[in-house]
Amino acid sequence: MLVFMSSLMSLFTHCPMCKENSPGRLRRTMGTFVEIDQNCKHCGFQRSWQNQPFIDKTPAGNLLLSAGILFAGTSPTKVLRVLKSINCYTITTRTFLNHQKKFLQPAIKNNEVPSSVHMEKEGLVRCVQFLESENLVMKTL
Ligand SMILES: [Zn+2]
Repeated sequence: MLVFMSSLMSLFTHCPMCKENSPGRLRRTMGTFVEIDQNCKHCGFQRSWQNQPFIDKTPAGNLLLSAGILFAGTSPTKVLRVLKSINCYTITTRTFLNHQKKFLQPAIKNNEVPSSVHMEKEGLVRCVQFLESENLVMKTL
């Protein structure tokens, strides 16, 4: 899903409680993660909206992107360059490498599959199982 920032911010123009003008503001981003705060100066209502859940301290979308790149066997540099070229919030190559080392490669031991080709598929299967165990639903693969 691609969501333009202008479209997203149009959902945070008014306070949901008192209906007064209360524009949200982009509080922070972390790779594909986006957080928007809304603080109503009229009634004091406050909320913080996040576009994705976390798995421990890692935004799930960032980890999914790294897993998708790795298990598809494609170039992280090219994929991330494409996303950046269209101004998508995305992870850096360094983050991809950290995810690969910290989460993805340890998930699959080399002696469990006959070759690297099988490792990509097995990695994808395990990643999906892990995400489902965290109650994260994938709609398209
Ligand atoms: Zn209000």
